[in-house]
Parts: sequence; C-alpha cells; structure tokens
Amino acid sequence: MKAVRFHQHGGLDVLRYEDAPDPAPAPGRAIVRVHACALNHLDLWERRGLDRVALPLPHISGSDVGGEIVDPGGTGLPVGARVMLQPGLRCGACQACSDGRDNQCVKYDVLGLQSDGGYAELISVPDENVIAIPPHVDFIHAAAFPLTFLTAWHMLMTRANLRFGEHVLVLGAGSGVGQAAIQIARIHGARVLATAGTDAKLAKARQLGAHEVLNHSTDHVPAKVRELTGGRGVDVVVEHVGTATWDASIKSLARGGRLVTCGATTGHDARIDLRVLFVRQISLLGSYMGRKAELLRAAEAFFAGELRPAVDRTYSLAEAADAHRRLEAREQFGKLVLEV
Ligand SMILES: [Zn+2]
Repeated sequence: MKAVRFHQHGGLDVLRYEDAPDPAPAPGRAIVRVHACALNHLDLWERRGLDRVALPLPHISGSDVGGEIVDPGGTGLPVGARVMLQPGLRCGACQACSDGRDNQCVKYDVLGLQSDGGYAELISVPDENVIAIPPHVDFIHAAAFPLTFLTAWHMLMTRANLRFGEHVLVLGAGSGVGQAAIQIARIHGARVLATAGTDAKLAKARQLGAHEVLNHSTDHVPAKVRELTGGRGVDVVVEHVGTATWDASIKSLARGGRLVTCGATTGHDARIDLRVLFVRQISLLGSYMGRKAELLRAAEAFFAGELRPAVDRTYSLAEAADAHRRLEAREQFGKLVLEV
C-alpha cells in the first residue's frame, strides 16, 4: 500500500510518501480501506518526537479515519460497509476497562500513536473500534469527527458536568477541539463565548453557534468576559492552549467555575495563586480523550445533523506535509483532512 511515514523525528521533510507493507489479517481485528484521514495536533507531536513516549519507527500517524471495510474481522459488518473509527485503544481487561472508563485504561493508547494510523491506504484496528456510518455522512466529515468531538464531549459533559444555561468560554474557536466544543456546548443549552485571533475566524465561530466572540489578539479576554457576563465570569473554560492563555483563563472564571484542559500547545508550564483557587472555589480538571460510549452518544447528534465537524481544507495523502504546515501555522479553521 501507499502510506506517509517518517523514519526519524523532525521537521516537515521527514514525512515520506512511499510504499509500506499491507496490514495482515489478525484475530479480533478488522482492516479498513482508508478514504479520508483527519489531522490532529497529536500528529505534529508524533512527528517532532515526544518526551515520554517512544514511537515504533518507521511510523504512520493518523487517529481519525473514514473508510470502508475490506476485512470485517469480528465486526459482523459486510465487506464494503462504510465506517469511521473510534480513536481510543484500550486493553478491555483491566479494572478501568471493565468499568467502562476506557480512557483510564492502564494500556490506553490512541490510534496512530503507538500503532500505525490512517495516513495510509489500509489500516488494521480492533473490531470494537469500528463504527458504521449512515449513507448521508461522507468520508471526509466522518474522518473529521471522532477525536475532537470525543475529546470535547468528555471535557464538557463528563469532566466539567456542563448544565443548561451556563456560560462557557471556548479558547481557539478554529482548533479541532474549539470548533467541537462550541457546538457541543450550544446544543446543551449553554451560552457560548469563543476566542480566535482573526475576524474571519470569529465570524465562523458565530456560524458554528458561538453567542459572543472575542479576538484574543486585540481584546483583553478576562475584561471582555466580565463585560459579557454581567461581571460574573464564565462557569466553564475549555482550555487546550496552555502557557499563553492560562492566566487569562483563570481570571475569566466565575466563583465555582471549572477549568477543563486537554492540551498545552503553547507550553506546559502554568502557575496559579492558591488564594484564587480556594477563595473563588475553582476546579481544575484534566481531560484526555473519552469513552466509546461518549463517542457513540456524540455520533447520534452528528448523524442527525446537530453536530457537524468544520472542515477547513482537504489534501491528497501525498500532500501530508503541506497539511502539517498549515496546522503548525494555525492558519486553519476546523479540520484538515487527507483524502486517500
Ligand atoms: Zn484496560
């Protein structure tokens, strides 16, 4: 098969479009012909090299796949069935797995992280990771959906326990998690404030359902949040930016507010004044991926047309480096998708 692999970590030039071995049939696994694979920020970390995780090399990235079944394995689906893939991999046997807490599995992994992913014509996945999609959902949007909507759903609905009528501040409306969080918060009856760095992105954030938008290049975010919430602050902040936005995110919270974070694209260091933490009764919540049950719940809203991933641009598989460049430069609004 054709695939995009890297044999060493580094810049855009390490991504090679080349021949790679087809995945072999294996018990408990299905093989999917990839039609589309969406990028995630994780792909950039994989290419550059991670501090705490050694990837098998050469490596095929790609956590978000839409395609069709070529080997059904034990899925019970016919050859040719149209599917998307649940991007979380779990052992299925540990205490967390037995309790349905997939993303707290002791061996938890993400498709395309320790295993080969979707920057390829074929991919092998555990049977339980295959999710059938209805005829009206195209492969590009199917690929653009799972990881960020699963992540944002777990952040808002499970970790932050979002309630109807609450104010939510979503950072980085044009990011994968941002565009998903705006929509999920909106359909659950929240008042949604969203930030972005350009007026064009702010206009798109409004189209996705943001009630109010803030330009983080020109607005003082905490002051603007106070102004828009009658001086109170927001109940929930959806963080994934890290060092660059941390202080403003804390200052934007109402008393009893929850900050939930799933990433740190601008740096890992953050501080907090403990007096603020206890006097304002703030909760700091970490979040990573989510449970398959949550993805299935979100997928119902996706298939019903209530959630729709924003797709910025598509590329051919051979153009994967161009797609990485655009994501690295934060030029996109929504998902970048490779058509395979
Ligand atoms: Zn497990």
